[in-house]
Amino acid sequence: MHTVGRFAPSPSGRMHLGNLLCSLLAWLSAKRENGRVVLRIEDLDAARCPRAFAGLLEADLSWLGLIWDEGGSTGGRNGPYYQSERGGIYETYYKKLEKKGLTYPCFCSRSQLHAASAPHREDGTPVYPGTCRSLGPERQAVLAQKRPPAMRLAVPDWTVEFADGHLGRYCERLATDCGDFVLRRGDGVFAYQLAVVVDDALMGVTQVVRGADLLQSTPRQLCLYRLLGLPEPRFYHLPLLLAPDGRRLSKRDGDVSLEQLQTRWSAPEIVGKLAFLAGQLDRPEPAMPAELAPVFSWEKVPTTDILLPAGLF
Ligand code: GLU
Repeated sequence: MHTVGRFAPSPSGRMHLGNLLCSLLAWLSAKRENGRVVLRIEDLDAARCPRAFAGLLEADLSWLGLIWDEGGSTGGRNGPYYQSERGGIYETYYKKLEKKGLTYPCFCSRSQLHAASAPHREDGTPVYPGTCRSLGPERQAVLAQKRPPAMRLAVPDWTVEFADGHLGRYCERLATDCGDFVLRRGDGVFAYQLAVVVDDALMGVTQVVRGADLLQSTPRQLCLYRLLGLPEPRFYHLPLLLAPDGRRLSKRDGDVSLEQLQTRWSAPEIVGKLAFLAGQLDRPEPAMPAELAPVFSWEKVPTTDILLPAGLF
């Protein structure tokens, strides 16, 4: 089967080093196998993702030499490539789940969901305890007058296990480890979990490379692939890049955005430093993505968080 990889950035600001590392490895992993790369703009929350940011993101990727084969403003036969334009497609797949009787309205407020008494995962994220799963139609009608409900998936009692291409075996029991999850928000916007599955499947993506912060989302996504009968990609999660003081890099804190980096370093210098952090080069010497692709190896990529050495950028 021909390899198809993807970039799936959310254009809510300029790219930071963590996003760049992820894009570089996604590109190298696909190109090492002479694959194609799709650029999908994850602007589901259109208010937080102005179209101008998507344009900047394309300029940033091109500047680094991370050229995609279809998607974004380039277009292609599996478009549209902006999630904000794919609502009708998500609706079709959502309806399939609805027809199977697997969706239900949830009227819980944010504070109810985050209440200390609610069950939580080890990392502190709440597990939905199924509060609204068995509400009768009358009660639903009364509650619907107060707030438009989010729609959740009634998760099957499955244990989902998969072999991550980089981090190895990962396993979750859906009912107790994540609970019923949201498919469509109260404001009508489809949730990331549904959109990403439908998009990757319809865009023919065979390998998903992304940060380890999304490892925990993968069992939910595999559950949707299986319920919808869609072909599953291979997943590769890469360790997170941490600031020299151990904090997570974030756009909000203005952590080394490409905008700043570009004033000091050339594209091959930035790519070479990222490839060094990802174990692909012994020294942080300049390199272009196209030279690194033939020798790219997942085995050399660290499996634990990568601390950004002070002074590298
Ligand atoms: N859009 C997500 C992000 O920028 C990535 C989602 C994914 O790779 O599945 O963090």
